[in-house]
Amino acid sequence: MKIIMLGAPGAGKGTQAKKIAAEYGIPHVSTGDIFRANIKENTELGKEAKSYMDKGQLVPDELTVKILLDRVAKDDCKKGYVLDGYPRTIPQAEVLDKAVKELNEKIDYAINVDVPDENIINRMSGRRACVKCGATYHITFMPPKKENVCDNCQSQLIIRDDDKPETVKNRLKVYHDQTQPLIEYYKGQGILKEVDGTKDIDVVFEDIKSILNA
Ligand code: ADP
Ligand code: ADP
Ligand code: ZN
Repeated sequence: MKIIMLGAPGAGKGTQAKKIAAEYGIPHVSTGDIFRANIKENTELGKEAKSYMDKGQLVPDELTVKILLDRVAKDDCKKGYVLDGYPRTIPQAEVLDKAVKELNEKIDYAINVDVPDENIINRMSGRRACVKCGATYHITFMPPKKENVCDNCQSQLIIRDDDKPETVKNRLKVYHDQTQPLIEYYKGQGILKEVDGTKDIDVVFEDIKSILNA
């Protein structure tokens, strides 16, 4: 099964993608996580990506597309995958479509996690991420068992550099300009599914499962 998660920054794509990956036994592929891993290791790619991410801009398509195609070509993606944060532009979607078509395969679902802008700033200011394993939490909606400590690996939780309110506003603008048109794009392909992302995390996941199990 191949699934794309669509939605604004902070809509809950990553949270739901991790649950889908665990439930259906497919890899969770997040371009944001790949970029952040490169930033941590101080690679050339990481340095270049960081200069865009810190401003709330998109990393250019030519870089991003290559990273994604390399990742989905790996063996574990033969059984499918859930993409979180890719595509973010129409050209990125077109490259993915072409790659999938060349393998005589198809994307099964594009799930749009719908959350209005007014909820987003709140979501992002409460987001905390594990420095080590990348697990994400929310100080109110998904608190760790112990404050500022990861449930999985006991490492420290941090606020992402790009989750500051000024940067979030810019990311929302970029989302509306460049990413939101993908909703119509996948509607046109007949694979778009919508879920109400303002509901509780577990309720959203139940809604997604009923789509995937239909
Ligand atoms: P969120 O879902 O909260 O916006 P992500 O981890 O998906 O966070 O992305 C963080 C940042 O990484 C984005 O703001 C952007 O700069 C960069 N990024 C991630 N995926 C892509 C992509 N597909 N195209 C361009 N930039 C990307
Ligand atoms: P995205 O990957 O779309 O940027 P995340 O999955 O990282 O979004 O979620 C953003 C923040 O909101 C995180 O702190 C997460 O714990 C929290 N969150 C996710 N889904 C919900 C929800 N349905 N209700 C409340 N908070 C949520
Ligand atoms: Zn951790």
